[in-house]
Amino acid sequence: MNQQEWNIKEPCAECKACHRAFADKEPIWSRLTFGAEGYERQDCCAVCWPGAQKGDSVSAWKSVYHMPAPPPPEPIKRETAESLLRQFMETEDPSRRSAIFILAVMLERRRLLVERDVKTREDGLKVRFYEHRKTGEVFVVPDPGLRLDELEQVQQEVIALLGGPVPEKASDKKEKPSFDESRGDGPLGS
Ligand SMILES: [Zn+2]
Repeated sequence: MNQQEWNIKEPCAECKACHRAFADKEPIWSRLTFGAEGYERQDCCAVCWPGAQKGDSVSAWKSVYHMPAPPPPEPIKRETAESLLRQFMETEDPSRRSAIFILAVMLERRRLLVERDVKTREDGLKVRFYEHRKTGEVFVVPDPGLRLDELEQVQQEVIALLGGPVPEKASDKKEKPSFDESRGDGPLGS
């Protein structure tokens, strides 16, 4: 079940309809459908798009295809908000749900992800669709509907996982957390 709640869908390298490989920076149309196999992503070229919309889309949007760059040489492994988000989304651990949401919001504020759509499923679960600005991947992220105090707690946990400061005394908890600016992990609430 969880695998359908959160999900990363990579862009297709070619048009779903005419199978022509996309060029770098080509405008494309993307849609998500939800079926027995869970979320499915389809990308189409501008020519095929008008005829390609069969069935109900969960979401559809216009985008730009980015040719995947060859992977850079691995630097010394350091956890970032993005790597942590990807790591959590690979798991099916329900306890990661809030952290996944917080990390996605962090990355949206840092303009790495852009929110494309919000939908409420029939079972009442609100789902946010984020697009990765560089890779075009779609991150399907359930919104756990956190209260403000829960939000702050999860935020602290995530900051600690990213190697940030953890309050030592209870009285410190009221203070705003400080951040390693060089890494850009900014606070959510300001
Ligand atoms: Zn096409």
